[in-house]
Amino acid sequence: MGKILACKDVGVNCDFVIHGKDEADVLSQAAEHAKGCHQNVQMTPEVQAKVRAAIKDESSSCCGGDSCH
Ligand SMILES: [Zn+2]
Repeated sequence: MGKILACKDVGVNCDFVIHGKDEADVLSQAAEHAKGCHQNVQMTPEVQAKVRAAIKDESSSCCGGDSCH
């Protein structure tokens, strides 16, 4: 089961949603996205904890996400 992370759930004003195969995949994609899109966001331990807490199972978004089916 995949994992998703919505940028706005981390507290930034951004509609980007990351789909990964597992938490590590989501975290690495989040780091890449932040580098390009949120250069003012520092990946501090606090931010990383927030990101981890915001990661959800992809199944919870079934038929609501663009990667569904
Ligand atoms: Zn973003």
